[in-house]
Amino acid sequence: MSEKTFHERLDFLERAGYRVLPLDEAIDRHRAGTIQPDEVAVTIDDGWRGTGEVMLPEFVRRKMPATLYVTTYYVANEQPVLNVLVRYLVERWSREQPQPGTGGAAEEERRITELLGRLRRDKAWPARARELSRIVEELGVNVSVVDLCNAFRLMTSGDVRAASEHGIDVQLHTHTHSLHDQTAAPVRREIATNRQVLADMLSTPEARLRHFCYPSGVYSEAVFPVLRELNVRSATTTEVGINPPGAHPYALKRILDCESMSEIELEAHLSGFMSIAQKARALFRPRA
Ligand SMILES: [Zn+2]
Repeated sequence: MSEKTFHERLDFLERAGYRVLPLDEAIDRHRAGTIQPDEVAVTIDDGWRGTGEVMLPEFVRRKMPATLYVTTYYVANEQPVLNVLVRYLVERWSREQPQPGTGGAAEEERRITELLGRLRRDKAWPARARELSRIVEELGVNVSVVDLCNAFRLMTSGDVRAASEHGIDVQLHTHTHSLHDQTAAPVRREIATNRQVLADMLSTPEARLRHFCYPSGVYSEAVFPVLRELNVRSATTTEVGINPPGAHPYALKRILDCESMSEIELEAHLSGFMSIAQKARALFRPRA
């Protein structure tokens, strides 16, 4: 999303009279069944550099509450987020050089797993960067490794701390941006480590870090007991929609705003009209 569109979005929320609540308060009100149709919470994933430079100062300036879900490994190590970077590279590779006869999405997933395995063999950055250059060359994707690394870099620990000191609500998004196979042990480890690193980074009690966002929106109900055990109060997905009373707090939908969404479309989503329209479409879809 461009800087201009982002500013227009915040103007729209203010002009249209939406009340932007801190996430924790929104969850309280949602649980109590007292949340109103004009009350919203703003959440932002990952902690990209552009988020820190452009978006967060604007929320602070407008005194508008916002929650930032931060994945910590790449913040603490100041390395680009590998799984997001590799996914982007492979998508560009398939777009720029369609492979005849190969299996489309399945082939992409296989490539992503293979390339991530190669990159993770070395933890130290210079070796990883050399491997990344080799991969870019092999794929024949027309992009510079420096640009790639800059685009997929997160805020530094200092940036995250400063944002929190200015009132941005920093919350959980796993340590390495993955829930692995979604079994209890890795899920517990990812969230507990993420929480511990953030608590140290922000000098805040771990108990204040209790809202979670599934990395890349991937989740199943199998992880709910672990979230409960870790006293997580809410978890957001990338499923699109609003959250009527009774919506499960570990499967919260969101409106994924982006450059290509028009203001009228955003308004339709916020009003709940789109959710009704989607349900109606499903209801009237002809059966096979
Ligand atoms: Zn993410």
